[in-house]
Amino acid sequence: MFDSLSDRLGGILDKLKRRGALTEADVGEAMREVRRALIEADVALDVVRSFTDKVRSRAVGVEVIKSVTPGQMVVKIVHDALVETLGSDADPIDLNAPAPLAILMVGLQGSGKTTTTAKIAKRLTERGKRRVLMASLDTRRPAAMEQLATLGTQVEVNTLPIVPGQSAVQIAKRAMDAARFGNYDVVMLDTAGRVTLDEALMAEVAEVKAATNPHEVLLVADSLTGQDAVNTAKAFDARVSITGIVLTRADGDGRGGAALSMRAVTGKPIKLLGVGEKMDALEDFDPQRVAGRILG
Ligand code: GDP
Repeated sequence: MFDSLSDRLGGILDKLKRRGALTEADVGEAMREVRRALIEADVALDVVRSFTDKVRSRAVGVEVIKSVTPGQMVVKIVHDALVETLGSDADPIDLNAPAPLAILMVGLQGSGKTTTTAKIAKRLTERGKRRVLMASLDTRRPAAMEQLATLGTQVEVNTLPIVPGQSAVQIAKRAMDAARFGNYDVVMLDTAGRVTLDEALMAEVAEVKAATNPHEVLLVADSLTGQDAVNTAKAFDARVSITGIVLTRADGDGRGGAALSMRAVTGKPIKLLGVGEKMDALEDFDPQRVAGRILG
């Protein structure tokens, strides 16, 4: 997802490094090029502006311009600013709450929500040694419920038995009860997705949230949709207060804009990246590592 941005930034910074001595004008010119590269990567304009302002103000300092390797210092400044923009520290799923702890999965249809629910459940079961129960709350699409049940069999995680005719809230409550009686540690609630953001969707998610008091509310967003993914996150956060974001299709040819804008625009951390269709294709989102990847 960062290939093209990485090439562009690499080229700009290499030019600076080769120059030896640097003037303020050199830094200014490089920042104009960085600005163009970020805009082409579909990074939100406000984020582009604050990023380049931050780098410029740090890079025109006397110590940098007068240093023996000013280019290297600018690269370090860009790296640090990228890490800050991406959220500074890795922010994994928080399991620090009494069992059964609920994780509410929200997002638009097709974002990869059901797949991600099963990926997380698999990871919590295998690596975290947690007992996990998954439940689909998609009352309008029986196929979605069956999809989660199939994935559950595949990753060897139990799913709540399907009872036709129940509302999303009723299913969610049944899942919490089943988890209590069955001594589960974690309940993953896969809410219904819609093609567009609508009030009915938000009202249902809000109702489920109120009924289950989830410890994490994770928004699943498709990185290929760029700034739309960021707007979706903003809208969900405003309505149901999300705790984090999973950015899917990071293996695709997205331009990186969603990843770079998400934290700054929503204030919420990207916790995980979906990097493929397979059940193991899930990575922790570590700002340090991602910044390193972007700068090559
Ligand atoms: P939902 O409607 O949001 O529940 O979306 P699904 O979980 O059904 O996913 C829709 C499609 O996207 C499926 O074919 C998934 O295999 C695929 N998918 C989900 N996450 C990723 C990802 O990180 N990378 C890739 N390449 N495909 C993904």
